[in-house]
Amino acid sequence: MSAQILNGKALAQTIQEDLKQQITTLQSQIGRPPGLAVIMVGNHPASAAYVRNKERACARVGIASFGKHLPADTPQADLAGLIQECNQNSEIDGILVQLPLPDSLDAVALLNQIHPDKDADGLHPVNLGRLLRGERGLRSCTPAGVMRLLQSANLDLTGKKAVVIGRSILVGKPLALMLLEANATVTIAHSRSGDLAAIARHADILIAAVGRPQMITAEMVKPGAVVIDVGINRVTDEAGRSRLVGDVDFDGVASVASYITPVPGGVGPMTVAMLLNNTVESYRRKHQP
Ligand code: NAD
Repeated sequence: MSAQILNGKALAQTIQEDLKQQITTLQSQIGRPPGLAVIMVGNHPASAAYVRNKERACARVGIASFGKHLPADTPQADLAGLIQECNQNSEIDGILVQLPLPDSLDAVALLNQIHPDKDADGLHPVNLGRLLRGERGLRSCTPAGVMRLLQSANLDLTGKKAVVIGRSILVGKPLALMLLEANATVTIAHSRSGDLAAIARHADILIAAVGRPQMITAEMVKPGAVVIDVGINRVTDEAGRSRLVGDVDFDGVASVASYITPVPGGVGPMTVAMLLNNTVESYRRKHQP
């Protein structure tokens, strides 16, 4: 292996320690801790694990988390009412709706009801619009986490060719805009792109956000490229053991890349750190606009 590991777990810990310090200082001025409402509907096991993880992270840095865990058959109107309550609650600075929601619910309509200034996940159209316009706003957590990882390696993205594989509103599209903001020349590839290997091989910075286990192999990577693996896929081996892998064939790609993120321990912890960061950001802005 020649690539250096971009350790998201360690960087996320450093960010959380810094947030904890900031909260201690701000709380003595503001008189209350920052608050994050975590809305979860149903009992999806992976979602429950993500929510637990986020609530524990809140506790570690001193953010009060308001868990709103509701049954899968909760009507749309009740959830909309809950979001309105959270919008009006002055102790809540961030609102997170854990996705996916049950199919019976209109997730987009609910996300759109979150006040943009409390949009801890940075997915509201107003915040996505601010990103598009290069204005200050709450940034989507996973793409913001990727950008912080790149910054941590002091990589100057100016003029670099960045290829983002995946065009979701959660990851691919906002990440492409952030890379553009950092002066990279950006290509977005997706399921209809064709000859993905040829597109990927152009990349100085290659980001996989697809959801296909180990689809990016060493032959698809330019020697010396920086490879960021957003994918999280659960696979089961022949012995029936299950484990998490990314979209990148880590061992093969690590032999040609200059930097690489592991899964787990890469982008995942950074997403949580950016969620906390957004919550603290809206808390601070309420008092120091
Ligand atoms: P998504 O399903 O919404 O989007 C996947 C994208 O991949 C689509 O735009 C699609 O066009 C593209 N795609 C599918 N097959 C392809 C192919 N063969 N070639 C090229 N492109 C292809 O998924 P998402 O929400 O963007 O998530 C992507 C992955 O990232 C998933 O594994 C998800 O679990 C993971 N994820 C991780 C984090 C984190 O914190 N690390 C956060 C969000 C998502």
